[in-house]
Amino acid sequence: MTDSDGDEGARDRVSVPEEIELPRLLDFYERQTDDHTKIHEFYHNLRDGRLTTTRCRDCEAIHYPPRIVCPECTGDDLEYVDLPHEGELFAFSEVRGGLPLGLSEHEVPFVVGVVDLGPVKLSARIDDASYADLGIGDSVELKIVEIDGPTDQERVFYRFKPRNVNDGENE
Ligand SMILES: [Zn+2]
Repeated sequence: MTDSDGDEGARDRVSVPEEIELPRLLDFYERQTDDHTKIHEFYHNLRDGRLTTTRCRDCEAIHYPPRIVCPECTGDDLEYVDLPHEGELFAFSEVRGGLPLGLSEHEVPFVVGVVDLGPVKLSARIDDASYADLGIGDSVELKIVEIDGPTDQERVFYRFKPRNVNDGENE
């Protein structure tokens, strides 16, 4: 059936691209519209400068992150309520390596922490400080960042930064 003599050495060729487009999986932040997430109101509020979360109208539990069903009573009558924009550093660490997929080496080191806002504790990046600058119980405040790419959608996310930063070294 095959003419093995004549085809000797004629191999199929495959190629790989010079650059690989960033896959969705490597986009660190979720899409924030109602087409993509049922907690789009959280992001809408955040774009307006408000940090919010869901509260259950049935059992009054406050959740973080925001939910679409109450994990305490399984009710779905939830409302968005404002969270304080200031809190205390409950715990923190520094990321020096082992970056999450999608982050670049230029970003390390950076600090991540658990911030106690009173009604909830949440984890977030702590900007404008190094690990050595920080201590448990330090006062921190909300910082909203805008996310560039890879989608056209305007996206934001929250971080925290130390309060009352003495910016003497900046001038
Ligand atoms: Zn509930």
